[in-house]
Amino acid sequence: MNNSPLITASLKKIPNNDLTGLLKKPFIWREAVSHCFCSQCQTLGEINLDHARGLIRTMRILGNLPEATLETPADLAKYYFITGYCETCGIGPVSVKIKKIGEN
Ligand SMILES: [Zn+2]
Repeated sequence: MNNSPLITASLKKIPNNDLTGLLKKPFIWREAVSHCFCSQCQTLGEINLDHARGLIRTMRILGNLPEATLETPADLAKYYFITGYCETCGIGPVSVKIKKIGEN
């Protein structure tokens, strides 16, 4: 099973860095439950439930698991993950955060 994110956009190519606009669009990937944004290479991808659970596990290990309830796809769709690196840029700082869509 392929749990790689579906890369949907590079923020470098988006006018005004309108990440929120992209996050509010419907998912393209049938399996997608949330988005993951790489702060290093600025790519945005859609992630499935297994991938989201992996990121939540990493947040737990890093000790920055948020108060947010992230149990169901409906919960996850309200948030996006921000990682320190991704499969596109390969290596970087291990960090995972979540943000609610529309909040700065
Ligand atoms: Zn990256």
